[in-house]
Amino acid sequence: MPMRKCKTVMEELDRIQDGDATRMERIRFAMHLAMCEHCARYVRQYEAVRNALGQVDKDLLPDDFEEVMGQILDKVLKPEP
Ligand SMILES: [Zn+2]
Repeated sequence: MPMRKCKTVMEELDRIQDGDATRMERIRFAMHLAMCEHCARYVRQYEAVRNALGQVDKDLLPDDFEEVMGQILDKVLKPEP
């Protein structure tokens, strides 16, 4: 499976945040973050800004989003030796 371009993934981030993304798009997005530290870091910063602004709408996210993202970020932050 070819690596998706970061630019494409970041465009999907806007769709996800707007609630326009399909579940499959969200899954592909999460899979890219699992493989791409650059995008994972970007999203963390993005989410930190949104949290600071108090505009996070959890209704836009899948029920297991936080759990899945936590597992992904653990892998990104603590790669297997
Ligand atoms: Zn990327």
